[in-house]
Amino acid sequence: MNFTVEKAKDWLDKTSRKINEQKYFLTALDRAIGDGDHGMNMARGFQAIHEALEDCSKTNCQTVADVFRLSARTLMTTVGGASGVLYATAFLQMAYVFQSETTITNRTFTIALEKAKDGIQTRGHANYGDKTLLDVWIEVVELFQQSVNFPKADALEAVAKGAMEKTKKSVAQKGKAALYEQHSVGHIDPGAASTYYLFASLAEVCKENEYE
Ligand code: ADP
Ligand code: MG
Repeated sequence: MNFTVEKAKDWLDKTSRKINEQKYFLTALDRAIGDGDHGMNMARGFQAIHEALEDCSKTNCQTVADVFRLSARTLMTTVGGASGVLYATAFLQMAYVFQSETTITNRTFTIALEKAKDGIQTRGHANYGDKTLLDVWIEVVELFQQSVNFPKADALEAVAKGAMEKTKKSVAQKGKAALYEQHSVGHIDPGAASTYYLFASLAEVCKENEYE
């Protein structure tokens, strides 16, 4: 599969739908080890992305980079929490890599994901295993690095899900969850869960286009 502006929009629309369906679950996760706003933060942000993408005329949103730049800007203006800045940073870094290319290969897409992951790390100073959304990004990036073509949908979904589930066992080191110290063990990190939905949605796009 090659990644195009239509697929970029489809990915973000699917994410928006999934996050909206799961917003109460995400909020419940954040209530256990945070302030209980993650579901609403993400649902508001991705609904705004959905609307912005619907509105963006052909002149404004011609390339994949345009889609991610607009999405980053939309998240920055609609989501207050830590997650808004981190997702916006990731999308902006991806836009830098995509530049004006209209058809993105797996190689370019992998570099975009690497830069997104680095951007999250630079912003939040988290490392692998700190029980944040970065844990999922890191494992997904590794999967892409090992793949010549876009990964198989099932593999992508499974890696993202596994990384999310692993956060249950670790002690939170960053953000509001870090205040819970040992008590954070036994809970999935909310940001890791929303990032799982992001990549589960990408897996659906891969599945629908696997014979391309
Ligand atoms: P807030 O923590 O400001 O209430 P959210 O609840 O929307 O914002 O998002 C919380 C999520 O953000 C966490 O579950 C975690 O995955 C992620 N997060 C918080 N701080 C960091 C950080 N320093 N680095 C990476 N991710 C972080
Ligand atoms: Mg929160």
